[in-house]
Amino acid sequence: MKIVFCSAEVAPFSQAGGLGDVIGSLPRAIAELGEGCAILTPLYGLIDPAGRKLEKTDIAFDVHFLGKSYPIVIWKGVLPRSEVPVYFVDNHELFGSRKQVYPYGQPEWELEGFLIFSQATFELLRRINYRPDVIHTHDWHTASVATTLSDIRPYDQYFSRTQSVLTIHNLHYQGVYGDTNWLKEGILKADAITTVSPTYAQEIQSPEFGAGMDPVIRQCSQKVSGILNGIDTNLYNPETDAFITRHYNQDTYAEGKRVCKEALQQEMGLPVDPDAPLIGFVGRLADQKGLDILLPAMKAIEKEKHNVQWVLLGTGDPKMEEALKALNNTTKNIRTYIGFNTAMAQKIYAASDMFAMPSAFEPCGLGQMIALRYGSVPVVRGVGGLVDTITDVRLQPHRGNGFKFNEYTAEKMKETALAAVEAYHNKALWDVLVRRGMAEDHSWHSSADAYRKLYTRLGSPAIPSGSV
Ligand code: ADP
Repeated sequence: MKIVFCSAEVAPFSQAGGLGDVIGSLPRAIAELGEGCAILTPLYGLIDPAGRKLEKTDIAFDVHFLGKSYPIVIWKGVLPRSEVPVYFVDNHELFGSRKQVYPYGQPEWELEGFLIFSQATFELLRRINYRPDVIHTHDWHTASVATTLSDIRPYDQYFSRTQSVLTIHNLHYQGVYGDTNWLKEGILKADAITTVSPTYAQEIQSPEFGAGMDPVIRQCSQKVSGILNGIDTNLYNPETDAFITRHYNQDTYAEGKRVCKEALQQEMGLPVDPDAPLIGFVGRLADQKGLDILLPAMKAIEKEKHNVQWVLLGTGDPKMEEALKALNNTTKNIRTYIGFNTAMAQKIYAASDMFAMPSAFEPCGLGQMIALRYGSVPVVRGVGGLVDTITDVRLQPHRGNGFKFNEYTAEKMKETALAAVEAYHNKALWDVLVRRGMAEDHSWHSSADAYRKLYTRLGSPAIPSGSV
């Protein structure tokens, strides 16, 4: 089979959150199953073509959009540790001048860029003569590729057998401009819809999590399924991670994490104290991530003088960035770092004893799976993919891998963090918990297989009843 992935983010080239991780690892896993893959994405100004070893191809064409003509040039690179080609759609005005994947406060510019990207997709595939069995689109940004495919397929021989999958990584970003909701169009017209966890696939059919789209999802429920994301276990590997001070595995984690913790405590100006549990947070600063309950919980824990340290890393909503900056260094135990910094993220996963994800909603969440791999015990709210990946050890002592609460309040966040802190001081229990988490398999292995089954099923249309 030939599968084309269209995405706004592809790690390590461009990333704002989990979408980048997924497109930076799922295609490799699909290719390892023996299928053909290619990735299409914009060439933003934040990508350094020379540093990323991209080559300018001789493929150039114009896309016409609302009476204007946009010159497009195609660059080509390779997804690291694979042979999967990555084609970059280059237009300076739309993408080259962007220093962020998603420029805050400039929605029209974003929309125009992604619609033109979608049009360029079909011309590019023709030019490289790559006729896909499936085009796999992701979130509202590239949902219009699925919409356009469905519109052109009846009369365009080249794409007449191509099927589309639209994966919803986050239903809250819909690309609504004027009268058009680009995600909704894609949902209605794609051949299959997936979401990034089975629980989220159910949740988004209800008004509480449906972001106004639940009636549409229910209407299409037969083509909706949930496939849990995996993580790139070669990239996120405490035995080889180039960013961390000491490598470690399940047997050596105690010493490894002690050294990594000391290094982070020094780097962040925290008291160097091996016995103080360190709780990490890494995430986009968006309402979804639960900072409105996390920050008061942290402050309350500080006020009660518990010996608990915090390191928070994030970027996003300017208001939340200000709130985090204001909190930095206000107490001896709280440090915050604003920015997108992969090295710092990995240092936090390795150094922390616990990892906080008090999300209001969480389609899948990768942070908790990365944390498990680094022996950092997740403290999470039970929503979406966090339900599917984290089991509360207080309720299931024989298989629990973290701490989980349901009610979305600072009080519950605090109570659950303190329960984790208490468990941390019970060294025998903690040892079992850390090792159990590190031993879990959150690689793409089974999920890539589930996607392949879906692609195969789409490529073999049902035989009309009565004809055999
Ligand atoms: P979402 O997709 O909602 O952003 P996920 O938990 O699925 O959340 O994925 C987040 C990914 O992005 C993780 O790999 C996390 O480490 C990374 N990440 C988020 N914010 C930052 C940041 N400020 N610096 C470095 N990595 C980050």
